[in-house]
Amino acid sequence: MAEKLQAPRGTFDVLPEDGGRRLALHGTTRDLLERAGYGFFDSPVFEDTEVFARGVGESTDIVSKEMFTFEDKGGRSLTLRPEGTAGVCRAYAEHGMHKLPQPVKLWYWGPFFRHEAPQAGRFRQFTQVGAEALGSDDPSLDADLILLLAELLERAGAKDVRLRLSSLGDAATRESYGAELKTYLRENEGELSDEVRGRIDANPLRAFDADHAGTRKVMEGAPLLLDRLAADDAEHFEAVRALLDAAGLGYELDPTLVRGLDYYTRTVFEFESGELGAQNALGGGGRYDGLVEKLGGPATAGVGWAAGIERILLAGDLAAERGARVFVSWTDDAAAAFAVVRAVRARGAHAEMEQAGRSLKGQLKQADRIGAAYVVLVGDGLQIKDMATGEQRSVADVDEAVEAVTG
Ligand code: AMP
Repeated sequence: MAEKLQAPRGTFDVLPEDGGRRLALHGTTRDLLERAGYGFFDSPVFEDTEVFARGVGESTDIVSKEMFTFEDKGGRSLTLRPEGTAGVCRAYAEHGMHKLPQPVKLWYWGPFFRHEAPQAGRFRQFTQVGAEALGSDDPSLDADLILLLAELLERAGAKDVRLRLSSLGDAATRESYGAELKTYLRENEGELSDEVRGRIDANPLRAFDADHAGTRKVMEGAPLLLDRLAADDAEHFEAVRALLDAAGLGYELDPTLVRGLDYYTRTVFEFESGELGAQNALGGGGRYDGLVEKLGGPATAGVGWAAGIERILLAGDLAAERGARVFVSWTDDAAAAFAVVRAVRARGAHAEMEQAGRSLKGQLKQADRIGAAYVVLVGDGLQIKDMATGEQRSVADVDEAVEAVTG
């Protein structure tokens, strides 16, 4: 026998028993986001590497370590998308979406790729849902998006969820704060982990993310960006918070919240679940005013989030949606059984027929396995069996059978 092959490391197949829950989550998400005016957006799963190098930032883990990058036959560098926002901004600039009424509100759902060490809840191909609003810096967009993700997680039944919220200010504040933080880190260099020390110049903010005990101690006394916000950024943040407070959404103010992408300005947030292990982030996002410009478009405000579908399904209890099922049983007249199946489906209901040559007894067992509410028996005439009561009765013709099992 030939050697059995496996899906690549860190990837997985979605089998039908999980597929139903996944589709239910897709339906819930679609309903929620379309109702809030977000239109469905899709883009290629690979982009010019430049989109992420410029968009996400060369010094981030994502760009420096985790991208699946390859050359096409023309020698162009392409990358399987590790996140969605840079591609959305590339498309906004490419299609001149700034000419549309603003804000432009988009949502997406699809596969993303990061070359990370696989573990529970962390894959090399995973699915993200995201929502982005471009072309306005109105704080109500930040609040609306945060509330939408909170509602999505709630509808998905995600348990033990907490929200961390902060603001990173604008580029100028980040720069002067960055200089202040670098000075502070250098003053305490001796206590820091090698990794953090090596990144002082490239990405000092990431020091807040470190697990290393010495580094954590140093970071307890570090200056906080939240205390350095310019007046308009502080005002923007206050407005976002006031809207969340008015909506009754609880959150934890976390001035050390750093997201692993460089493009954020002002609001940043992350939802976590205690139901998950080490990989506890369900989703997060923030504002990225300036990202479209970096990708060659006009100066444009933007805010959005992305959430991990596999993690939401792990942390939640969403059930697969399933309508009533009908099984058509037969032994001699396949064509008659086929006609019943087609007639039931034409009424918008589920129907399957015997297609593996089982005995009558085996067919009833199969009907039970698929959870059929009714079995239509095609033999000497037509009969209907109600699987809940076990009751069986004759019907005159296909129309009456269809009526009985779909009515
Ligand atoms: P990020 O933009 O990196 O914060 O990613 C947004 C969300 O996507 C995270 O909160 C996770 O739920 C999910 N996610 C990110 N990376 C992975 C991964 N490697 N495997 C599974 N889910 C992921």
